[in-house]
This record gives sequence, C-alpha cells and structure tokens, in this order.
Amino acid sequence: MDFALTDEQTAIFDMAHAFGQEHIAPNARAWEAEGCIPKALWPQIGELGFGGLYVSEESGGSGLSRLDATLVFEALSMACPSVAAFLSIHNMCVKMIDTFGSDDLKARVLPKALSMETVYSYCLTEPGSGSDAAALKTRATQTNEGYRLTGTKAFISGGGYSDAYVVMCRTGDESPRGISAMIVEDGAEGLSFGGLEDKMGWKSQPTRQVQFDDCLVPAENLLGEEGQGFKYAMAGLDGGRLNISACSLGAAQTGLNLTLDYMGERKAFGQPIDQFQALQFRLADMEITLQAARVFLRQAAWKLDSGAHDATPHCAMAKKFVTEAGSEVVDQCLQLHGGYGYLADYGIEKLVRDLRVHQILEGTNEIMRVIVARHLLKNR
Ligand SMILES: Cc1cc2nc3c(=O)[nH]c(=O)nc-3n(C[C@H](O)[C@H](O)[C@H](O)COP(=O)(O)OP(=O)(O)OC[C@H]3O[C@@H](n4cnc5c(N)ncnc54)[C@H](O)[C@@H]3O)c2cc1C
Repeated sequence: MDFALTDEQTAIFDMAHAFGQEHIAPNARAWEAEGCIPKALWPQIGELGFGGLYVSEESGGSGLSRLDATLVFEALSMACPSVAAFLSIHNMCVKMIDTFGSDDLKARVLPKALSMETVYSYCLTEPGSGSDAAALKTRATQTNEGYRLTGTKAFISGGGYSDAYVVMCRTGDESPRGISAMIVEDGAEGLSFGGLEDKMGWKSQPTRQVQFDDCLVPAENLLGEEGQGFKYAMAGLDGGRLNISACSLGAAQTGLNLTLDYMGERKAFGQPIDQFQALQFRLADMEITLQAARVFLRQAAWKLDSGAHDATPHCAMAKKFVTEAGSEVVDQCLQLHGGYGYLADYGIEKLVRDLRVHQILEGTNEIMRVIVARHLLKNR
C-alpha cells in the first residue's frame, strides 16, 4: 500500500493550484458580487485539459482517474469552491456524453465541450422531486420533428448561463426505466428560465429554474438509449460526490491556512492568540480532521477507480464525512478570527457559506446515510 501521490499527480495538483491562485482567487469575491463567473475563464480551464478530466483520451479528454480528478478539485477550490464545483458539474455532463452518447453525438458536441467553448449544466432536480429524483415529471414526447419536452427543472447550477443542458426526462412509464437523458441546447425553441435564485453561497454561479414549454429537441440529442437516462444520471454521481468532497477539503484547507497566519498576528492579553494552548488544540483538531478527510476521500476515489464492489458506499461515506468535516473546520476558522471572521475581507465567511450546500447536493447527507445503511444491511 502506497499513500504517496505520484510525480504526475503532484504535477496535476500543482498546476491546478497555480492556475487557481493566479486566475481565480484574486477575482472570487468580485465574481460573487456580480453573481457570475466570466465565460472567458472556461476556455482557459479547458486549455489545461480540465474540461474533460476523465473523458477518455480517444475522445479527446484527459483520461485521468477519479483520484487524479479529486486533486484538481481540491486544488482549484483552494481558490474558490464555487468555481471548482461548477467545473465538476460540467465534467459530470461531459463524462455522461462520452460514455453513453452515440459516435455522431460525441463528434458533434464533445470537441467544444472539452475545450469549454460550451459549458454544460446537469438537470435532474424538479420542484417536486429532489432526493426522490426518479419521481421526476418533465416529459418528452416523440414527434416527427424530434422530441417535445415539457416540464420544469429546479435549482439548476448554470441555468440561463450554460450553453447546453443534460436533461433527465420521462419518455416512458413512471418507473426509473421510463426516464431518458437528452441534450437541450441554449436557444432551443420553448426553453426559458426562472429568475435568479438568491442563495446563501455559491453566489458566483447563477442558479435558476430551467423551463421547457413544448421545447423542441432534435431526436439525435438523445443520450444513448431511451429508458436508460436514470441509470446514466446515477452513474455520474459517485464521481460527483468525490469531486464535491474535494471542493470542501480544498476550501477548508484554505480556511486553516488563513487561520494559522491570522492567529500568529492577532494579539490578545499581551500575546499572539496562537500561544493559547486551548486554541492550539483547536488547530490540531482541524489538522487531524482534514488529514483524515483527505485519506478517506482518496481511498474512496481509489475504490471507484479500481471498480471495488463497495465503491458506491465508500463514495457516499466520503461525501458525508468530508463535506461535514469541511464545514466544521471553516466554522471553527471563523470563530478563531473573532469578529473579523464575520467580515468578508478576511475570506472566511464566504467559505462557510459556500461549503454549506455541499451537505445538500449531489445527494443530501441523509441520502448518503441511506446508501451506507442499505449496504450494511444487505451484506450483514
Ligand atoms: C445551490 C444548489 C445548486 C444545485 N444544483 C443542482 C443542479 O445543478 N442540478 C440538479 O439537478 N440539482 C441541483 N440542486 C438540487 C439538489 O440536488 C437538491 O436540492 C437535493 O438533491 C435535495 O433535494 P430537495 O431540495 O428537493 O430536498 P428533499 O428531497 O425535499 O429533502 C428535504 C429533506 O428531507 C431529507 N430526506 C429526503 N428523503 C429522505 C430519506 N429517504 N431519508 C432520510 N432523509 C430524507 C433530505 O435529506 C432533506 O434533509 C442544487 C441545489 C442547490 C441548493
């Protein structure tokens, strides 16, 4: 057993970290205030090969492992978890297209998706179905012109911003086998968007409802086969959970780094506050938490890469553990900054706000426990 990163993995982490520090970190607050990540950033990220991190090399992607990808998300989220998490969603969509799309579809849409000239959003959740995603109601009916899609998707990251949407919709019965996945391109007839959601965090990513009113979707935009869409949508989630965990981890590491510096400078009762042993213990506890989270996350990624039979519960466990650990750490960091932690200039309160949603999306942490408990009960 070898826990060390290879030289290549270290280089991947360093490249992502350097890019994040140069191009994302200095702008993260402004993008949050504007409520938008500039579209021009994405092709720059695409140039690094991050537009198709685990898309096969034959398809023009980077062909990285899931473990490698977690390094990218950990490193980028040290600059801004909201930007890094948006990239994770795009990668989830692009991987679905590479794995399940027809050769024609791939030839048509993948090159621009990989270079990030086109950015993708993932549309599963609806106003009436979140955790119980298979209860979705958006329906696509086949016509002579293609599919006609009607329904509403809720909470869509990149809604009204992205260039294309991978949409899970019903083409058959009410079971998960009645669900298909298709690509809806921006500008499609009958596609519209709700108002901008006013959120607690992830503010640089626009979140809107995505509405389909008899929306025309060419038949060739169907992903894979009809009735397989739910399976495709779920296939991306183990990896998505690792990515979102990595985003919590990287951001929490930034929180700890900032706190270490701050505590050396801030004085109280005649000495730097890092001299109080009670506070040193808090630092030690945060370090222990993050080290444990990192090892646990990388083990889950390794299980997914190696096709382990228990990869899914491990991804779920990692998601629950690491996202909660990340939030716990940044909350402590805020506390150790005193009143200054509450001020935006110190960079901590944004982390607290951004990380909170990681316990809710890509499957809530309650649903992660459902997955783990099911696995335990099945295998006892
Ligand atoms: C900022 C943001 C961005 C998002 N981006 C996207 C996106 O890009 N694409 C997309 O498709 N979705 C997106 N989502 C939606 C997200 O995936 C859902 O919010 C999430 O799956 C939970 O669904 P829900 O909000 O309907 O909550 P519900 O499913 O209604 O859950 C409410 C509560 O009940 C609990 N619960 C539900 N069922 C069970 C159960 N069986 N056992 C125990 N507890 C249970 C939940 O854990 C939760 O605490 C986003 C959400 C947010 C907040």
